[in-house]
Amino acid sequence: MARKIVAGNWKMNLNRDEAFALVSEITGMLKDEEIRDLKVILFPSFIHLGAIVQLCNGDSRIHVGAQNCNDHAAGAYTGEIAASMIQSYGANHVLIGHSERRSYFNESGDKLSQKINMAIQYSLTPVFCIGELLEERNSAIHFKIIEQQLTNEIFHLSPDDFKKCIIAYEPVWAIGTGLTASPEQAQEMHAFIRATISTKYSKEIAEQTSILYGGSCNDQNAKQIFALPDVDGGLIGGASLKSRSFVNIIKSLP
Ligand code: PEP
Repeated sequence: MARKIVAGNWKMNLNRDEAFALVSEITGMLKDEEIRDLKVILFPSFIHLGAIVQLCNGDSRIHVGAQNCNDHAAGAYTGEIAASMIQSYGANHVLIGHSERRSYFNESGDKLSQKINMAIQYSLTPVFCIGELLEERNSAIHFKIIEQQLTNEIFHLSPDDFKKCIIAYEPVWAIGTGLTASPEQAQEMHAFIRATISTKYSKEIAEQTSILYGGSCNDQNAKQIFALPDVDGGLIGGASLKSRSFVNIIKSLP
């Protein structure tokens, strides 16, 4: 069975004191929660990464990741951050392929594949984001788009490396818009993703891959979404910036 995970993508939000306060509130609230096999991942801005790894050190359920990494190992790429640097600060996950990176920073499929390779090379777990645009769903090509993203961007991995990855299905039209995929839409796409992984790799690998839902998930709708058979948790944007709502979302895991 796939691991249940709730991840918070802070995007370009929170200054130093705000970020530290949020972490201490979350760790404080979770301290007394006997939440079994829980895995939480926080994705702060790069600049807070090292400090937040330290702040989370006391709770093995909480992991820290970067929101991006460069597709090269090192070199003359001013302003960029390498996977090895992220690893050296004790972070162990990285978001790759978020729709904001794809659209605002023109990240192509080839670049994303390289970023995945860099993450694997430096022992970071890629949380690989895929999702269709509204016009693609309206044209009924959403399954084809998702299949292409998987095939062209991550299916070059060997089975052993693919097993290290987490997939996040984030319909682009649902990110930050307040629109959420209906339970039917989320379940059918998650089942499709799992079936596609099964065809490429194996049934066993598909069943063990965590497939997270992202897109306006909050503490009002998380329970219903997380109860779906092929949804293994969530990637949360806006609602991860408030400790109470984020912890309520974590507690919505079945
Ligand atoms: C995201 O940025 O990955 C996301 C899902 O954002 P939001 O929850 O705000 O829609």
